[in-house]
Amino acid sequence: MIKESIIVDLQRIVGKENVFTSPECLKTYSYDGTTTWTHKPDVVIFPLNTKALSQVMKLSNREKIAVTPRGGGTNVSGGSIPISGGIVLCLSKMDRITKIDKENMMATVEAGVVLQDLVLELAKEGLFFPPDPQSYYGATIGGIIAENAGGPSCLKYGVTKQYVLGMEVILPTGEIINLGGRTLNNVIGYDLLHIIISSEGTLGVVTRADLRLMLLPPARKTVMAVYGDAVIAGENVSRVLEAGVIPTKIEYIDNWVINKIEETMPFGLPRDADAVLLFETDGASEAVERETEIIVEVARKHGAKEVRIAESINEANQFWMARRVGASAIYRDTKTVLVEDVTVPRGNLPVLIKRCKELAKKYNLEIVALGHAGDGNLHPAILTDITDVNHYQKATEAMDEIFQAAVEFGGVISGEHGIGLEKQKFLMKTIDPTVLTIMKKIKTLLDPNNIMNPEKIWSESDKPPR
Ligand SMILES: Cc1cc2nc3c(=O)[nH]c(=O)nc-3n(C[C@H](O)[C@H](O)[C@H](O)COP(=O)(O)OP(=O)(O)OC[C@H]3O[C@@H](n4cnc5c(N)ncnc54)[C@H](O)[C@@H]3O)c2cc1C
Repeated sequence: MIKESIIVDLQRIVGKENVFTSPECLKTYSYDGTTTWTHKPDVVIFPLNTKALSQVMKLSNREKIAVTPRGGGTNVSGGSIPISGGIVLCLSKMDRITKIDKENMMATVEAGVVLQDLVLELAKEGLFFPPDPQSYYGATIGGIIAENAGGPSCLKYGVTKQYVLGMEVILPTGEIINLGGRTLNNVIGYDLLHIIISSEGTLGVVTRADLRLMLLPPARKTVMAVYGDAVIAGENVSRVLEAGVIPTKIEYIDNWVINKIEETMPFGLPRDADAVLLFETDGASEAVERETEIIVEVARKHGAKEVRIAESINEANQFWMARRVGASAIYRDTKTVLVEDVTVPRGNLPVLIKRCKELAKKYNLEIVALGHAGDGNLHPAILTDITDVNHYQKATEAMDEIFQAAVEFGGVISGEHGIGLEKQKFLMKTIDPTVLTIMKKIKTLLDPNNIMNPEKIWSESDKPPR
């Protein structure tokens, strides 16, 4: 429990109106996008600038108070749960887009900018920021950087780390550092920028980022391929890429999710399909037309039972809206959802899909899936109920087997959601102990008092979070 005098100090530093301790507020900030974790902080604060934030970190470091950075709270690994209590440091009031530099195709933004707001502003200049996590209505730039988020467009364009050129970061000890810069190339000693990216808020607080942008493509086209067998859908991903096309997006949606989307918001998706793949190509219109033809040919040749080309932008937007709805529809009627984001070398996607189906049968569980198939990424979601001990136990065993399968097929247990609290147990089984030791040394160097989002990625305590 934080002392009253510390609350007064925080009020002095960030302003009384930006410090919250009411039970309602503490409860609100005890959650994130996971359905399995909750823990209340002692206080929630909203700093307005870097200087104040630095003072907060100096105070917290001196008093050894845990600090959990938080953006939109949309992560699905428990990353922004204040599991050790202390301070939730919410970046959402640091939300200015400071500069859009069209000539250099760059933007400078504060960490609390919501991705959707940035997307809309950039579009006015004919620009875009490619990483597009499907939570972009709520996810912030700081959270996206901390998780190295991916999304459908990352197949062609790459993930967040490929679009962060520079950052201002507040270290756990309160120092303000600037990493990287505003150039495309930068080889000045160790690449500390990329140690902070994907560090899940455990090494420092990102306050500002210089982002690389792209020009909005003049044309784009969407294709939906419908499959009677989900494994064939998985195989089609590689077949299309082998044909020489790199689509912007290849997304996978299985039968259960298709039906849940249709119940939530009818889009006319094929409810009897075992799975669909959604493809998008973008670029010069002639290239887009040709690439679309190739995708259609390949899908027909390799087992799609139906291929639909979106006839208008409106229809294409409907297909993509359906994909977004799918990410939320999974949570609709289920108390607890274990959403994973295993990622394998693309050619192994079919065996991963097959294994998930086998595990669903073996454990008699609903294991449903969608994912950024073009990246070899799958989000198998296990529907369970944490209050039903036996069912939940079965679900975690199945999840363990999915992780083992991903590793067996040459993949990783997280492609984009991070480890947080949710996957610690599994990380310990898959990480090289020497690599973990190096990570721990980096953590101790930057955060000697272990105040920055403690207990995340791995646990230092004798009694780790479950
Ligand atoms: C419906 C849905 C769809 C999703 N789709 C995708 C997807 O397609 N791709 C994908 O990658 N993810 C996806 N996610 C997961 C999630 O949205 C991303 O991880 C996102 O990047 C989190 O951003 P946020 O601002 O909500 O961060 P939060 O959830 O607030 O925090 C995430 C982590 O980042 C840390 N953090 C936050 N801000 C900062 C900061 N300024 N400095 C340092 N650390 C910070 C937190 O401590 C925490 O560890 C989805 C989630 C949902 C609910």
